[in-house]
Amino acid sequence: MTDVNEQAELIAALKALAGRAAVWGKDELAARDPGVDSRNFRAAALVRPADTGGVAALVGFCAARGLRLVPQGGRTGLAGGAATAAGEIICDLGAMNRIEEIDPLARVAVVQAGTPLAALQEAAAAYGLDPGIDLSARGSCTIGGMISTNAGGIMAFRNGTMRHRLLGLEAVLPDGRVFRDLTRVLKTSAGYDLKHLFVGAEGTLGIVTRAAIRLVAAGGASATALVGIADAASAQRIVGHFLGRAGAYLSAAEIMWHGYADAMRRWLGFEPGMLPLDAPCLLLLELDADTPEAAAKAMEDGLSAIWEEAGIIDALVAGSLEQARTIWRLREETWQIERAHGHPPSFDVSVPAGAIDAYVARIGKDLKAIDARYAPYVFGHLADGNLHISINTDGPDPERYRAIEDVLYAGLREIGGSFSAEHGVGLDKRAAYERHADPVKQELARSIKALFDPRGILNAGKVVSQAE
Ligand SMILES: Cc1cc2nc3c(=O)[nH]c(=O)nc-3n(C[C@H](O)[C@H](O)[C@H](O)COP(=O)(O)OP(=O)(O)OC[C@H]3O[C@@H](n4cnc5c(N)ncnc54)[C@H](O)[C@@H]3O)c2cc1C
Repeated sequence: MTDVNEQAELIAALKALAGRAAVWGKDELAARDPGVDSRNFRAAALVRPADTGGVAALVGFCAARGLRLVPQGGRTGLAGGAATAAGEIICDLGAMNRIEEIDPLARVAVVQAGTPLAALQEAAAAYGLDPGIDLSARGSCTIGGMISTNAGGIMAFRNGTMRHRLLGLEAVLPDGRVFRDLTRVLKTSAGYDLKHLFVGAEGTLGIVTRAAIRLVAAGGASATALVGIADAASAQRIVGHFLGRAGAYLSAAEIMWHGYADAMRRWLGFEPGMLPLDAPCLLLLELDADTPEAAAKAMEDGLSAIWEEAGIIDALVAGSLEQARTIWRLREETWQIERAHGHPPSFDVSVPAGAIDAYVARIGKDLKAIDARYAPYVFGHLADGNLHISINTDGPDPERYRAIEDVLYAGLREIGGSFSAEHGVGLDKRAAYERHADPVKQELARSIKALFDPRGILNAGKVVSQAE
């Protein structure tokens, strides 16, 4: 049989299986937007099941034919976890986007896995609640994808990562069975808490279909400020000060080093003097309070009180919603880096609080030893030590990529940090995982993968290696 016949037979079989669900073949995939990673749509077909039963049927179909299946949510993942190869099938959760229930008293939402974060934020806001987690991909990233990458984002220092927002979960296993542990309560010590195995598994152990998520009280009115300081230590002093103050709630503390802020100023076309951007480091702060006036006053009072001790160089408290948005654009429109450099090497590390300045100084120096033109763009979620680092170059050759990784990941495990803070391992960080993760942890991870998915049906080749 020719490839064309095989493809036609596959699509016909998937359509017969999937009923109402959408099925796209190779040509349709090639004509559509694959999301942030061009590898996402290299598969033979995409199926969009309508419910958990449809997902289980698709898993069974793939298992019977020995086809590899890749779960996809919003396709915003940054580690290649949703990348596909020829012959693979995509299980797209986009049609499972229903918010099944919001219980305002218990502060719990039960949602289908394909629900975009922004949709849950909007639905929860109607009850004065919020999922307690936020990232700038909010319009596209899904709850299932966020569980699978253990997403962190802007509010993790307050409310934890996705793992801490999760109360219960339903997932289809690689053998088609449905794992159902949709607990809605915080306390459950009823044996191994297996739902957490699916958190950060990047679709290698099961396809998440539904989840129960903890909600928090929504923030109310907010004030935004951009503060210029000398270094991360000063920024941490300011954050510590606001965390200790009553009457206002610190909801964001994002840091940007000068090289990043200056490039963003150019790319975003900011007029000179629009924002104070000259300091070596910039701290974006957001404070929530009952009214905009109370939030702005708490911000101004707090900054005045810590000004000298933290060595604040300059600060701007946004005087309008538009100014607040401009400040946030500086931090959130990070795709400008991708636009300026084709596939720049990009990294996502966690560094313990006291070690950030020394780390940033060291990598700046050691990267120059690889190539004198290298100057990293560094920014991230300050309060949990999560730094995003992109190198100012188009994707370099593999040898240089490895040398860059070695500079960035050196010593991180020893000081209690992590080579992957919130984006996962996927395909892109596989080699780093093998070099930098604890060997015993890797051994156990391979055993768990073999137990759940001995035939390597689900997201094969991602995160852990598996015997063929
Ligand atoms: C502009 C931008 C900003 C970002 N900011 C942040 C940030 O601040 N913090 C952060 O943590 N991340 C951030 N990310 C990364 C990304 O948004 C998150 O990783 C997000 O959690 C991925 O969700 P998704 O639905 O897009 O998943 P996808 O990209 O579709 O998939 C990601 C992984 O999860 C698996 N997967 C998806 N759905 C399921 C499912 N239902 N069951 C099992 N496996 C599944 C996929 O196979 C893949 O391995 C950002 C990305 C962009 C583009």
